[in-house]
Amino acid sequence: MIFEGLSDKLQGAFSKLKSKGKLTEKDVKAAMREVKLALLEADVNFKVVKDFVKKVQERCVGQEVMESLTPAQHVIKIVNEELTALMGDVQSKITISSKPPTIIMMVGLQGAGKTTTSGKLGGYFKKQGKKPLLVACDVYRPAAIKQLEVVGKSLDIEVFNMGDKESPVNIAKAGLSHAIKNNNDLVIIDTAGRLHIDEELMDELKSIKSEVRPHEILLVVDSMTGQDAVNVAESFDNALGIDGVVLTKLDGDTRGGAALSIRAVTQKPIKFIGMGEKLDDLEPFHPDRMASRILGMGDVLSLIEKAQETMDMEKAKALGAKLKKQEFDFEDFLDQMEQIQKMGSMDKILGMIPGMGDIKNQLGDVDMNGKEMNRIKAIIQSMTVEERRNPQILNASRKRRIAKGSGTSVQEVNKLIKQLNEMKKMMKMFTSNSKGMKKRGGFP
Ligand code: GDP
Repeated sequence: MIFEGLSDKLQGAFSKLKSKGKLTEKDVKAAMREVKLALLEADVNFKVVKDFVKKVQERCVGQEVMESLTPAQHVIKIVNEELTALMGDVQSKITISSKPPTIIMMVGLQGAGKTTTSGKLGGYFKKQGKKPLLVACDVYRPAAIKQLEVVGKSLDIEVFNMGDKESPVNIAKAGLSHAIKNNNDLVIIDTAGRLHIDEELMDELKSIKSEVRPHEILLVVDSMTGQDAVNVAESFDNALGIDGVVLTKLDGDTRGGAALSIRAVTQKPIKFIGMGEKLDDLEPFHPDRMASRILGMGDVLSLIEKAQETMDMEKAKALGAKLKKQEFDFEDFLDQMEQIQKMGSMDKILGMIPGMGDIKNQLGDVDMNGKEMNRIKAIIQSMTVEERRNPQILNASRKRRIAKGSGTSVQEVNKLIKQLNEMKKMMKMFTSNSKGMKKRGGFP
């Protein structure tokens, strides 16, 4: 799951707050110390962390929070808003030129995922009805051209290639002329990378930039490299000027430092994230959704979008409406789990479901693909329809019956009920009277 360590630690800090009724300034300060440590351990830039914690703390010790009936939820809401702001508030889209073709120049160090992302981006826009052309300018990395050809072929996107003897500037220019003749409305230039930033690389990129005048220069960085990714972004921006960042390999065991620092340090937005090696593992980056995922509140919107390909859309829409009205019950829970299991690759999906990260924690170190998921299903399946729809009727004897029927314990049944209630509370917090969230286009 995305940024699991960070997510766990933040949720740990907040669960201590939740267990208190009223909060004192001391409680908030203690929680903020934990938040600070969690962010630093996630390799977030030190200055970014300092500013972030200061801002959150100032807002949290305000009267409105301290005197509210649910102060812990208020604190989480403020953290959510500030995390969102840190990552740029709203989604930054690719500039599509009113005069086609739109030219996107992909830059980055070797191994960051530039060639793969060029293909993914082509596929992403092809799905939206564009006619992309991929231009192979990476003449240095052995096999980069072949790789782009393979990617293009599998996506059925044309690749412009002049081999590795021509200069990248000439290839880019010729690629652009080809696109114009060929009616391509989008040109994606896969430039050459290097192992390290050097002057020769920057000079070459600057020449391509001045010859083809791209509408977008997208820097591809590997999120696994943490603060190095942030430094690379700064260097490319200073030398070349970039319009946005694609952060790759967020599906891996990455800590979150790059995602949370890049925007604040460079002022350049993350536009897309790479979530795997497959060519459709690319997602537009939404700061608000990412903040929700980090805080374990899920990302229902991305889930619904992702589900469009595999899920029963009517059901997904109904679920979205229910979540808004906080009518989410065990039937929906079960339905959702079954649909999700159909979608496969559980780990990626899990973080998008509100509260699901928490369930995983409560059950310990579990394999959510198999046994544990089935246990939760078994508990819900052992409930009557009435119980699923009205969990409040679950008294001690009903719980015993369900535990017996599902081969679990009353404790586990209680855990699951608690979870559903937590989810509802969260939903309520983020859908009712939360002007701030609505203004920021936050949680659904
Ligand atoms: P380039 O040198 O920058 O062109 O890098 P490549 O596109 O060849 O990618 C380097 C490696 O990273 C390849 O093995 C890719 O499959 C892998 N890769 C790229 N993006 C992602 C991603 O989002 N997730 C994962 N897990 N692997 C990725």
